[in-house]
Amino acid sequence: SPVIVWFRRDLRLSDQAALAAAAAAGPVIPVYILDDETPRHRAMGGASRWWLHHSLASLDASLREKGSRLILRKGASADVLAQLAEETGASEVHALHHYEPWWRNAEKAVDKALTLHLHHGNYLAPPGAVTTGSGNPYKIYTPFWRALRERMPPPEPQPRPHTIKAPESWPESDALEDWGLLPGKPDWAGGMRDFWEPGEGGADKRLRAFAEVASRYEGQRNLPGEEGTSFLSPHLHFGEISPAKVWHATSSAGGSVATFLGEIGWRDYAQNVIVQYPEYGSRSAKDGFDQFGWRSGKQAEEDLAAWQQGRTGYPIVDAGMRQLWHTGWMHNRVRMIAASFLIKHLLIDWRCGEEWFWDTLVDADYGSNAVNWQWTAGSGVDSNMFVRIMAPLTQSEKFDAASYIREWVPELADLPAGEIHDPSPVCRPKGYPAKLVEHKAGRERALGAWDKFKAST
Ligand code: FAD
Repeated sequence: SPVIVWFRRDLRLSDQAALAAAAAAGPVIPVYILDDETPRHRAMGGASRWWLHHSLASLDASLREKGSRLILRKGASADVLAQLAEETGASEVHALHHYEPWWRNAEKAVDKALTLHLHHGNYLAPPGAVTTGSGNPYKIYTPFWRALRERMPPPEPQPRPHTIKAPESWPESDALEDWGLLPGKPDWAGGMRDFWEPGEGGADKRLRAFAEVASRYEGQRNLPGEEGTSFLSPHLHFGEISPAKVWHATSSAGGSVATFLGEIGWRDYAQNVIVQYPEYGSRSAKDGFDQFGWRSGKQAEEDLAAWQQGRTGYPIVDAGMRQLWHTGWMHNRVRMIAASFLIKHLLIDWRCGEEWFWDTLVDADYGSNAVNWQWTAGSGVDSNMFVRIMAPLTQSEKFDAASYIREWVPELADLPAGEIHDPSPVCRPKGYPAKLVEHKAGRERALGAWDKFKAST
């Protein structure tokens, strides 16, 4: 009887242990379920839905090259899989492990209805498996990475299965176009189409291009005006490429590639955190932090909207927020600056920023997003970062963001070098806003709120 492969954020044929196991067992029914029901509060954001559409189309095309195809169904995963099993006579389901709380719940439900085989392969090591000497999970990145590093390299990536046997007859599938994953009008995805090629082929291209420059990562990665990072994050998030493949393609590059591998380690670390704290995306880990003296009310709402639209009066922040809106991605250094600005200068709850990123990033990832927001806020398990308030103007100069600002904030493009990071009121073009808050005043307000918080806990 046929075997079901339940694809989720693992939309690839190569180094896909669930597909490999199913292909070895018999005829395969590959299925993707749009499960808008299980997550409820965590439905996929707009940018992710755009990516998903193209990634599914690409996966289907790759399967068809092998005489197979992707079956699309909508609904709660366990119900859909049980129904599909009944229609096809399949009784076994193969899938890769995922660690978002809603996926873990869905797995439990599937396992009750059918025989579910879960395989590893979306992380360098199974989250939860790297523990301290006394067997406890790590809370802090540095010792976690040291311990994970000891277990490396990961297993060699496996090629795509040679053959994927088709069942005698194919069950019905929804049409991808009917799922409405793409934007209607206005079509905001033009910038994304220009910049990205979702799917396994696009991921391999990015990997090949990055492998050429991986040795220079350390010197380049903090410069938003350079293409010095891998741009693999959405491909890794949707599982179009395995981290083991990335590791083996880059680790011998020499130079500062170890720093890059450490970033792949951050991705593992984030999963390790959400395994311990499933609600990390919506709740501060530090006691009392959700009652921090965040601003609220009309003015705070307007400031949040200005931040979202890239109209804060800080060119580096605005460039980042506009890059995000156009391409679904933002440079990591600028993500840190923009997040710190929202939380500290504007004194707005980190969860508002997390939500905006969730909706607009093509790499929006429950674990990585929450871990980085909580790290910046100092609300998480790992840091006391609240009092480390980044100065956006100093950062902008230090990391040479002039060309980046010129690209993303075109109304500032003609400003001279001395004005581009911090346009003076005389030079500031009409239509570009004044600063929402001066750095010094914002900093003092944030530190005052921190003192109050400390006194109350
Ligand atoms: P590279 O520098 O080439 O790094 C290689 C890979 O390592 C990335 O593709 C990514 O998978 C992983 N990685 C790198 N940095 C981090 C990190 N700090 N945390 C976790 N993984 C990392 N990354 C996401 O994938 N999804 C998110 O939702 C996300 N939200 C973020 C929110 C904030 C506030 C901040 C400060 C960072 C966030 N990041 C997130 C981390 C990081 O900014 C992106 O992973 C990175 O910019 C992606 O670009 P790249 O692929 O060129 O990265």
